[in-house]
Amino acid sequence: MARPDADGLRRAAEILRAGSVVAFPTETVYGLGADAFSEKAVGEIYRLKNRPSWNPLIVHVADVAAARKLAAEWPAQADDLAARFWPGPLTLVVRRAPHLPGIGAANDTVAVRVPAHEVALALLEASGLPLAAPSANRSEGISPTTADHVVRSLPDVPLVLDGGACSWGIESTVLDLTGDVPRLLRPGALSLRVLRDAVGPIALPESATEDGTARPSPGMSRRHYAPRAKVVLCKDVRDVERSGLPEPVATMTYEGGDGTEILSADPREYAADLYAALHRLDDAGFATILIQEPPQTEDWLAVHDRLSRAAA
Ligand code: AMP
Ligand code: MG
Repeated sequence: MARPDADGLRRAAEILRAGSVVAFPTETVYGLGADAFSEKAVGEIYRLKNRPSWNPLIVHVADVAAARKLAAEWPAQADDLAARFWPGPLTLVVRRAPHLPGIGAANDTVAVRVPAHEVALALLEASGLPLAAPSANRSEGISPTTADHVVRSLPDVPLVLDGGACSWGIESTVLDLTGDVPRLLRPGALSLRVLRDAVGPIALPESATEDGTARPSPGMSRRHYAPRAKVVLCKDVRDVERSGLPEPVATMTYEGGDGTEILSADPREYAADLYAALHRLDDAGFATILIQEPPQTEDWLAVHDRLSRAAA
């Protein structure tokens, strides 16, 4: 682990330019970064995380000009959104520039964003590279919101820049701009309400369109963001029949409930603490976590998405 001072940043930039990887803080979660132009370096991310090759990575850049250079086409909508929300937790998917290697299964598109974290921006500047970076954890596991989470999940990462706890604590919202209507690929930190105010109608993933909940379509459904403990979602943690559940059992509720972990009833505050709470319960050795489902409203879309995948 290293402090993100001048010396730490210089060492991190050297490692990145040499084709290896560095973990760094962003405002969403900690990222595991590599030179997006180096297939070898990007391959190292997939190897360390044990991430399936079909899952593409987001490329982090210092500013809109750097983003445009990675794109074959830069729609007017991308300009509007970037002007409003960058630096910030919004990822845009656009057509990929031919000189950028395909990252994961994404053959003709690239996902790009400018992170709102001074350490991430300082690292982008010090390295002079666009950084492909997924969350800095083993594939399927809980995303890291502190440097300590990173070290425990990925002990072999050559360097982790410690920037304290992430302010959003949940991944960026991913919006696909390659079609006629912007399409939500992943709900995240930036809410749909705020996005719609900026761009108008947004197409949602299939099942979300049907019933307003964040359930992923069957084809996409997969385990992700998951603690070691078994996760069970329920309306009321007191009503769950516990006899068949692995012991010990923890409960996670939000304000007003009675739980081992009690999170905020505000969706943004809840999201900011969600992964840290799951890490705490895992570390405490619970074998089952009963989670009180938050309200089925759009403000909770990203939280429902993460909870349903953690329970998958
Ligand atoms: P993570 O790296 O774990 O934050 O996840 C990145 C997510 O961004 C992936 O799961 C994809 O859903 C999405 N993504 C990244 N690149 C692309 C792309 N080129 N096309 C579509 N989705 C993408
Ligand atoms: Mg991830």
